[in-house]
Amino acid sequence: MNQVLVVGSLNMDTVITVENLPKDGETIIAKDVSRFCGGKGSNQAIAIARLGGNAIMFGKLGNDENGRELITRLKKEGVTTEYIGIEESASTGSAFINVDRRGTNTIVVDPGANYSMDKKYINEKSAVFSVANYCLLQYEIPMETVEFIITKCYEEGVKVIVNPSPVAEIKEDLYKKIDILIVNETELSELSGMEVLEDVFIRKAMSVLINKGVRCVIATLGPKGSLYMDANYKVEYQEAFKVDAIDTTAAGDTFTGALIASFVKGGDLKASMRFANAAGAIAVQTKGAQNSIPKYADVEKFIA
Ligand code: ATP
Repeated sequence: MNQVLVVGSLNMDTVITVENLPKDGETIIAKDVSRFCGGKGSNQAIAIARLGGNAIMFGKLGNDENGRELITRLKKEGVTTEYIGIEESASTGSAFINVDRRGTNTIVVDPGANYSMDKKYINEKSAVFSVANYCLLQYEIPMETVEFIITKCYEEGVKVIVNPSPVAEIKEDLYKKIDILIVNETELSELSGMEVLEDVFIRKAMSVLINKGVRCVIATLGPKGSLYMDANYKVEYQEAFKVDAIDTTAAGDTFTGALIASFVKGGDLKASMRFANAAGAIAVQTKGAQNSIPKYADVEKFIA
């Protein structure tokens, strides 16, 4: 059975709805406060599990209520949680999101236990690399750890999929150890050093990443769909499904989870991109992050 190891963040998100975002030094009253399970690692693990794959979450939580709630949620979703560590010296990661009536937001993240994902912990749990055949990483844990894991997977024969978000640089020689790099337009632009406002520049920017040694680059283009380029610069385009988007939060996490869930089951990349575009299109029609990630059957019905 194909197992996807998701190495990344687990956060409790607090969303504070306000009339207007506070100005410097201002105190204001919230209209609503809600808590949601989040973090890119946890979102993508749940997306894989809901969309037909097997996900093993590899991350760290604090010994607190938020941590216990996140574990319960992952278990309910069918994600394997036995490799999640409890860090006694830090609290579970938190994100504080202020949203005003126009939908404009400000976000403050306390990485907490996510930043205790260090080499020592990875080495303690290195057995996990023998039970997974794919490893998916984002950049919400220390970059030193991301780099260490890319090399570790490469050495152990585990295929590496990277979603470089929030965007950051890694050592140049690591790109050749990445099998699939999934980027949105901002990440593509930052990592290639090119503006990607027009289609031709998107392809040029993708080829910059292929030239760094990545085996395959997939660019998500919001309402324009997604584009794939392989090591021979062969390009495949998949148009987006036409829908009325309400909230694009977690569209990227949904796309990534769907793509991997489909691909590891033997789907070719083009078919997997279509499946992932459909999952993304469903997600943008519902508000929120994890609750907008569809199930496998919803996507099948949507495509049919
Ligand atoms: P986010 O950061 O909001 O989670 P992202 O920038 O990482 O998103 P996008 O490229 O915006 O990722 O979206 C991912 C995929 O979701 C797209 O490739 C597309 O398939 C689907 N999608 C996003 N927006 C729309 C839309 N308005 N209509 C249809 N499909 C969409």
